[in-house]
Amino acid sequence: MKSIAIIGAGITGLTAAFYLKRKGVPVTVYEASGRVGGVIQSLRKDGYLAEFGPNTLLETSPKIGQLVRDAGLQPRRMDPDPKAEARYVVRYRRPVEMPGKPIGFFTTDLFSFKAKLAVLREPFVKPRRDGVEESIAQFVVRRFNQEFLDHAIDALVAGIYAGDPYKLSVTHAFSKLKALEDNYGSMIKGQIFGGRERKKRGEVAKDRAPKFSFDEGLQVLTDTLAVQLGEAVKLNTAVSQLSKTDTGWSVTTSRGEVEHRGVIFCGTAPRLAELQVNGARSSSSARTGDRIAQIQSAALQALDLKPFSEIRYPPVASVVLGFRREDVAHSCAGFGMLIPRIAGFKILGTIFSSSLFPNRAPAGHHTLTSYVGGERYPELAAKSPEELYALTCEDLRVLLGVRGKPTFQHCVVYPRAIPQYNVGYGRFKQLMTEVESQAPGFYLAGHYRDGVSLSDSIVSGCHVAERVEKALSSGQATRT
Ligand SMILES: Cc1cc2nc3c(=O)[nH]c(=O)nc-3n(C[C@H](O)[C@H](O)[C@H](O)COP(=O)(O)OP(=O)(O)OC[C@H]3O[C@@H](n4cnc5c(N)ncnc54)[C@H](O)[C@@H]3O)c2cc1C
Repeated sequence: MKSIAIIGAGITGLTAAFYLKRKGVPVTVYEASGRVGGVIQSLRKDGYLAEFGPNTLLETSPKIGQLVRDAGLQPRRMDPDPKAEARYVVRYRRPVEMPGKPIGFFTTDLFSFKAKLAVLREPFVKPRRDGVEESIAQFVVRRFNQEFLDHAIDALVAGIYAGDPYKLSVTHAFSKLKALEDNYGSMIKGQIFGGRERKKRGEVAKDRAPKFSFDEGLQVLTDTLAVQLGEAVKLNTAVSQLSKTDTGWSVTTSRGEVEHRGVIFCGTAPRLAELQVNGARSSSSARTGDRIAQIQSAALQALDLKPFSEIRYPPVASVVLGFRREDVAHSCAGFGMLIPRIAGFKILGTIFSSSLFPNRAPAGHHTLTSYVGGERYPELAAKSPEELYALTCEDLRVLLGVRGKPTFQHCVVYPRAIPQYNVGYGRFKQLMTEVESQAPGFYLAGHYRDGVSLSDSIVSGCHVAERVEKALSSGQATRT
């Protein structure tokens, strides 16, 4: 049987390939770079464990734990130190602990009396039902107030998307928040009453989901999946063109042309925009299912994927620094600190990596992982490593009381880090659906479609494997 081609050996592609292979479906994974994992990168050096991409995996769906068990990784799973729950947001030029319980919200000095009043008023703010798509900034100011946006949500947005709250769509980037307003009329009422619904769906809210990693970092997961896929993974093999054939798809890679039964694209949106795809049926025939129109238009039409180049991916530099504990005044007890733009620092935030997991630093040392760039300061991500270390140390000096030289320093720049689900993202999602219906047997999955988090990507990989398997078992080799 011809294999299913999977483009991209990030977590989405590897998850899809792993589950298809388990179901007996042959797969070939093409990866343009010389390593698997995509943005996941863990480095063990000098007693430190640096995590440049994601630091933790959130168990928001039962599929996450299932993948860990199926990959045989349960013994290597590492849960964070329960004492490292505290999260900080920078205000008054210092990290202020976020209230862990609702009651703490009323006593915290993170927000003024006016902002606290705005939260109490939120359940009585009329929901917006005119269908106008708002940015997360518009949504938060309308339901809460400007202070809540400037001092809390802006920091959160930097932490998740490295994004701009005035551009990110509440509908697409924070769909669960929008659903709370749509379904319950209020975010606060939705938080209180929505738990039961989530439980029914087997989902866990992101703020309550258990987070974890592995003994040697998250790359353990992608490396293990790749080992289990063995020869099926082809590194240094970029896919440039797909052409429809009578029995599937001909895939052109940097090493030649291979026939496949179907193709799943698990790369990035800019790389999707560069892909040449020939052999689509016209959208009108796809919609009407008109056989004659389908045959007439089968003359190898090219799909126009260029619009996907408009999806914005700002650059992010991950700067991992080690310090002797006595050189850091702050306890760093907790998950980390988020920094809103208004606070006036260059870094976007810092994860207290060695407080989360004990084996991230040698005894008596801290590992601090900071992020620079994003939509806030894209130009800073292009600085030299020495400049990145210097600007990060300067911010950490003010915020955490860091002194002296780092005992470890390493950085990785992601020129295109995280897709921005900005206002109007719906047109890209619609185009993705159209592409799949115009090119049966060509599937799209991953962070540019199904959510930007690591757990979203795993769920996306599981779902696309299920879709392909269903299509194959119903005899539609190249149909969705
Ligand atoms: C700095 C950073 C920090 C993050 N932190 C977190 C976090 O703490 N928690 C969290 O949940 N998420 C986090 N994320 C997001 C999460 O890591 C990603 O959404 C997820 O890993 C994406 O996986 P993916 O497989 O969809 O894409 P990618 O990891 O981007 O993999 C895509 C792969 O496809 C390959 N490829 C593309 N085009 C082609 C082609 N034409 N031919 C062959 N190969 C191709 C690429 O080389 C790449 O290896 C972070 C992301 C970044 C960048």
